[in-house]
Amino acid sequence: KHRGRDLVHIYSREDQDSEKLRDTIEWIHQLQQAIIKDNIIFHFQPVVEIKTGQIAYFEALVRLIIAGKVIFPGHFIPSLERAEDIKLLDHQVIAKAIKTLADYPQLTKLAINLSAHAFSDENLLPFIEQKLAQYQVHPTRLIFELTESASLSNLSATQRMIERLTLIGCAFSIDDFGTGFSTFSYLKELPAKSVKIDGSFVKDMKKDPIDKALVKAIYDISKSLGKQSVAEFVEDRETLELLAELGVDYAQGYFIARPVPIEQALAIKPNQWLN
Ligand code: C2E
Ligand code: MG
Ligand code: MG
Ligand code: MG
Repeated sequence: KHRGRDLVHIYSREDQDSEKLRDTIEWIHQLQQAIIKDNIIFHFQPVVEIKTGQIAYFEALVRLIIAGKVIFPGHFIPSLERAEDIKLLDHQVIAKAIKTLADYPQLTKLAINLSAHAFSDENLLPFIEQKLAQYQVHPTRLIFELTESASLSNLSATQRMIERLTLIGCAFSIDDFGTGFSTFSYLKELPAKSVKIDGSFVKDMKKDPIDKALVKAIYDISKSLGKQSVAEFVEDRETLELLAELGVDYAQGYFIARPVPIEQALAIKPNQWLN
């Protein structure tokens, strides 16, 4: 419009790129502000063992508080992933998670999500080790969830870091399994303890036989490789029952509990879901 009337402007690739760039710069700014103001928080969602109903661990899901509003990661992670600055967030997430484990000994284990860049960042491993030592937190209480895109960027560096963290007792889980690329080679190359079946398959498995077959297939592969399986997006009882029938080990989702602040999370009682 600012170029005058009767002009058709074709929305080009360059426009898209510069819009993305502006968006990334804006989110880097928001992130920096949130760090300064201590406006980065977690909500915690339990992962339960299906057989027993016990809470196995919680997943920490990051949120930014901007102008008093809670902003979810879907808004800022994709933009920040385009910049190295996402490492700032990774460091915050690690430090906050380890401090949370120190502050709440009743929180047995905590899973965190790191960016696609995280595992090619040489400073990350010493940072994790330093924070664990500083807060006197045992490494076995920390679980790293990584998406396939995360490991994709630099497989050998990722492998080395994972091996080192596994050696000191941290656990790894492959997140959103089934939607990325080269799925099978990651199962082969990465010493992950568990596989999280992508929620998009789980969500509709009670209605869609293809989704159900895919959930079963991922469960079977995981099991035959000696890995535990976790189903995310368990939104109703029927789905949880189906997962129990298949033998899937763990479940997470709105049917069990939504992500909530720490005090509410710690008040969640085990064993009530399949009664
Ligand atoms: P994710 O790690 O796969 O986490 C699961 C997401 O699904 C969370 O969204 C969670 O709130 C949501 N969810 C849980 N149960 C259900 C359910 O039953 N139904 C549906 N429809 N959704 C459910 P959230 O918190 O918005 O996070 C989205 C993604 O952002 C995460 O996916 C993760 O990839 C990323 N993320 C979250 N926290 C962090 C972080 O600290 N650092 C980084 N780098 N990424 C993060
Ligand atoms: Mg996750
Ligand atoms: Mg996931
Ligand atoms: Mg997911």
